[in-house]
Amino acid sequence: MAKIYYDKDAKLEHLKDRKVAVIGYGSQGHAHALNLRDSGVDVIVGLYRGSKSWKKAEKDGFEVYEVSEAVKKSDFVSMLIPDTVQPAVYNKYIRDNLKEGSVLLFAHGFNIHYNQIIPPSYVDVVLVAPKSPGHLVRRMFEEGKGVPALVAVHQDYSGKALDYALAYAKGLGCTRAGVIETTFKEETETDLFGEQVDLCGGVAELIKATFEILVEAGYQPEVAYFEALHELKLIVDLIYEGGIYAMWYSVSDTAKYGGMTRGKRIINERVKEEMRKILKEIQTGEFAREWILENMAGRPSFYKLLEMERNHPIEKVGKELRKMMPWIKGIDVD
Ligand code: NDP
Ligand code: MG
Ligand code: MG
Repeated sequence: MAKIYYDKDAKLEHLKDRKVAVIGYGSQGHAHALNLRDSGVDVIVGLYRGSKSWKKAEKDGFEVYEVSEAVKKSDFVSMLIPDTVQPAVYNKYIRDNLKEGSVLLFAHGFNIHYNQIIPPSYVDVVLVAPKSPGHLVRRMFEEGKGVPALVAVHQDYSGKALDYALAYAKGLGCTRAGVIETTFKEETETDLFGEQVDLCGGVAELIKATFEILVEAGYQPEVAYFEALHELKLIVDLIYEGGIYAMWYSVSDTAKYGGMTRGKRIINERVKEEMRKILKEIQTGEFAREWILENMAGRPSFYKLLEMERNHPIEKVGKELRKMMPWIKGIDVD
């Protein structure tokens, strides 16, 4: 069973004499900075000149500095900028300004696990990864609650790295909910696997394939859209609230029988074998190398693939049909 920490296992005193530099003021950054400050922690924010978030952080009452300055002024550095820009920012502005005994904190393990950032031996390196977007981290804290998080220690120079990480998690409100102990390896590899085969990759392809096959067979795209995409939310909501069995319980008996007998032919042994291959690519670092090189090359495939997704026929139908549903707020990404 996983080891889970709660409020009683974490002491904010470990951060009493520390100054935390939150680098980045986006989804996670703003929530961490605000929650920590409300928990009595001394927090400053590090950004780059011209950053869109600079004013926002100042408006929220924080002292904001360029990254190198913020690191110099602090002894606890929280890396909350996009994962793809972290290595360059770290090498240029952070590495040489880290003091002995500082804590370097991440909210995702990618750059440490795949050696894109190699911190000096004289700092603690920890992970506190809330299992939710930043706005929910903030909202739950304000309601006196918290979101669950993962915690891990990569390097324990002080001998107190876990105490510091748990104190930080408490400052975020996460120990109110529970903080699960993991490793950088487990957090990174499971995160990548989940988003590739299930959450983002798997689901998107399943939706498109269902839509395409119905349209190919002569059914109307509008009708296909509802079956392939729209109704997925109703199903996912049931699964989210009550588990898969609660979903089976709620759908018709015909849906139950059809789903239970046919679903296994879709996610069959061949598909599972492919999923295992994808996990291997993650574990060996093959995926990480591909993505790092893709970024170095200016993301040629990435932008091509995004363009193809944007132009998929289901997007056109969806745009029109969502107008029929006034309760859908809609997200405009054009
Ligand atoms: P965001 O993209 O929301 O935040 C980006 C922030 O970093 C902005 O303030 C941005 O400024 C700033 N920034 C961008 N480039 C630089 C730079 N070169 N120098 C200094 N600041 C810069 O990031 P997230 O909060 O989504 O992610 C941060 C970390 O949290 C990542 O490691 C991510 O994996 C992890 N994480 C994210 C979760 C999420 O739900 N979002 C959940 C759990 C973990 P500007 O406003 O100018 O763009
Ligand atoms: Mg994830
Ligand atoms: Mg991820």
